[in-house]
Amino acid sequence: MTVRADREHFRPAARSEWRTETRLVHEGGMRSQFGETSEALFLTQGHVYDTAEQCEARFADKDPGFIYARFSNPTVAMFEARMAALEGAEAARATASGMAAVTAALMGQVRAGDHVVASRALFGSCRYVVEELLPRFGVETTLVDGVDLAAWRAAVRPNTKTFFLESPANPTLEVIDIAAVADIARAAGATLVVDNVFATALWQSPLKLGADCVVYSATKHIDGQGRCLGGVILASQAFIDAHVKTFLRQTGPALSPFNAWVLLKGLETFCLRVERQSRSAAIIADALAGSPQLSKLLFCGRPDHPQAELVARQMTGGSTVIALELAGGKPAAFRFLNALRLVRISNNLGDAKSLVTHPATTTHQRFTPEERSAMGVTDGLVRLSVGLEHPDDLLADLTGALAAA
Ligand SMILES: *Cc1c(COP(=O)(O)O)cnc(C)c1O
Repeated sequence: MTVRADREHFRPAARSEWRTETRLVHEGGMRSQFGETSEALFLTQGHVYDTAEQCEARFADKDPGFIYARFSNPTVAMFEARMAALEGAEAARATASGMAAVTAALMGQVRAGDHVVASRALFGSCRYVVEELLPRFGVETTLVDGVDLAAWRAAVRPNTKTFFLESPANPTLEVIDIAAVADIARAAGATLVVDNVFATALWQSPLKLGADCVVYSATKHIDGQGRCLGGVILASQAFIDAHVKTFLRQTGPALSPFNAWVLLKGLETFCLRVERQSRSAAIIADALAGSPQLSKLLFCGRPDHPQAELVARQMTGGSTVIALELAGGKPAAFRFLNALRLVRISNNLGDAKSLVTHPATTTHQRFTPEERSAMGVTDGLVRLSVGLEHPDDLLADLTGALAAA
């Protein structure tokens, strides 16, 4: 039996009445003639054709089916369909990493002479793409304080093509009003791309708030078990067709079918993991708030978050990351990190294992101290990603290390 299927086969609309948890287990599944329970791993670069005519028709987009793994692959298409169901998006395209997704979503929309506006508090590599890579190709960029809506409005020029933001931002947990920025973008004839890694699809839906495109590093909560890199771009079919499809097909940041399979299985436990990790993060944030060693503690789920009212409007949960600021600066932050026994020092987040990072000396090392302080990345700042361990074990480790700091 020849399985004739392509991305059309996995349209999320078919089972849209199911709830998220159900769709994350079943959406996008495409059983082969062997009736396997778990999704098949199609570790193949290409596909064979019955006839030369069929091959011609397939290249002309007249025969549905797969051609070459740089364009599409059955296992990758299953992952894309499951992600589209999770996000409530019309279309999804997977990439080799989160940065490939960010780069393609932005580069795919612009040409020399265009202008991009982005929030200043971005993940370090996203800042590189906006601030250094795009200008090399004649694309002007403006960085704004993302919280300041007047700054977004003032940055608009006749050639502004797209806005880009991250909310909550890494690692400062600064929250940007996505609906308001989407309105400003629309009025300017520009699109809005949102990096939703920190909130996750469980707690925030940028497309429903008016964004045109959402990007993820699937490396984080979607894998959630520290195994592989991946990324995904979600948008309307029209956005994908206009800006993303050809860019990915011709430039090649394709997701490996093996990694797509790992991520597909990761999605089955996504809600369980993110809910549990977020609940533990809330317990830990409440227990550590007010510790004398901390000059600040930020968690999106707490009423003392500086933008708690906005968080309540656009997020349905606090997510898995806590930002701690040690009052004693870098020496205290390092003593704290070095005293931890259960929580490990690492730069990943959203993992089953709880991980801590000192952004000023790692992800944000290449910035000058002035740039770091403009982003809120102080020397005492520590980013804690809460994992699946028992919260009492985590609290014992964290309070012991704070005492040592
Ligand atoms: C990790 C991360 C990325 C980059 O993802 P990779 O999979 O590491 O390429 C982009 N944005 C944010 C907010 C991230 O945390």
